[in-house]
Amino acid sequence: MLYIKNKLTFDKKNVESLAKKYGTPLYCYSFNKLKSNILELKKYFRSFSPLICFAVKSNTNTKILNEIKKFNLGADVVSLGELMKALKAGINEKKIVFSGVGKTSTELNYAIKKNILLINAESKSEILEIEKIAKKKKKIVDIGIRLNPNTDAQTLSQISTGKKENKFGVGEKVFLQLVEYIKRSQNLNLKCLSVHIGSQILNHKPYQNMLKVVDRTIRKSKYKFEYIDLGGGMGIDYEHDNSKLNLKKYSQDIKKFLKIHKSKIIFEPGRSIIGNSAILLTKIVYIKEGDKKDFVILDVAMNDLMRPALYGAKHKIIPLKKSNQKSKKMYEFVGPICESTDTFSTIKKYQKLKEKDFLAICDVGAYGVSLASNYNVRPKPLEILIKNSKVQILKKRQKISELI
Ligand code: PLP
Repeated sequence: MLYIKNKLTFDKKNVESLAKKYGTPLYCYSFNKLKSNILELKKYFRSFSPLICFAVKSNTNTKILNEIKKFNLGADVVSLGELMKALKAGINEKKIVFSGVGKTSTELNYAIKKNILLINAESKSEILEIEKIAKKKKKIVDIGIRLNPNTDAQTLSQISTGKKENKFGVGEKVFLQLVEYIKRSQNLNLKCLSVHIGSQILNHKPYQNMLKVVDRTIRKSKYKFEYIDLGGGMGIDYEHDNSKLNLKKYSQDIKKFLKIHKSKIIFEPGRSIIGNSAILLTKIVYIKEGDKKDFVILDVAMNDLMRPALYGAKHKIIPLKKSNQKSKKMYEFVGPICESTDTFSTIKKYQKLKEKDFLAICDVGAYGVSLASNYNVRPKPLEILIKNSKVQILKKRQKISELI
């Protein structure tokens, strides 16, 4: 993103022209950004060439999945729908891993039928269910067990998944019992230890701690895992102050780990691949004067971008046209939905805005549209992709008639 003569450009396109041509709210993705994110991850992890399985939950657009597939990535899915979408986008079944605590028998049956790489089980009950289905189908199914390493990811509590009070995975004691159980099973083949301690992790230390627990657990199990799936969670620079995860340090720690455990590494990144590749364009409907602050009421709402309302996540909001005029009061940027949590950000110092001005909400590629809903009977927004200087429609704006 770059201002040229005070006008915002995104992948060399004038953003205001896009907003005027396609209308708002508008999700606008950059192929170049997506590509450079993938290449960056590959570069840092080159020495052990991991299998990178894109976390489909972060962005479920089939055309985006298809672009990602072209870089030889696999997929991490958490539901039947995501699995079907990944396959529809052409992702090879032998590059798909299935995570989640509550996979139903329908979902497991489908995953087994499709011979995906791994089902990462999260409980004894799930393992028994997979075994039952495998027996019925006279198959041997490749599975992983998700370890809960009881590691603090030092991120928002709502997106922390690796502490023992979280519902995910099993603790070390149960993990070791399950290894013994699966070793004796005729229909299960234990191939993987998986972990995922949380999302938007900016400090490499939690990963270091996680690797220590994984190391200890593997030693105790005396089992040779073909795969170690380290999950996703690599944090991105939402604040635009260079505070993203140090991938070099993370990579060095993994290399050390691999000197002891000769396994193939799997990653399940979502946010670090797609997060900063999109902006959400919005138009100011009204500006309402308040006592200490003015409310900038946008045409985008929590149904279009849920993260701020869901867990207080912060996204930068920037003007499409820069000016030197300053606002008199602070601004609170809000949506039109009838909920007080439908608010994006309060900013003390901002340039003076007026009704009908356009703004861009930054870094919305991950958990943006995939969390969007029709709350307040609002149609889902249009999504476009800029690729090779051309604009492609990724998903049409939902028609209000579809909702009535
Ligand atoms: N893998 C699992 C099991 C997850 O639950 C998640 C997200 O919550 C991810 C991968 C992707 O995380 P991120 O988008 O932070 O990389």
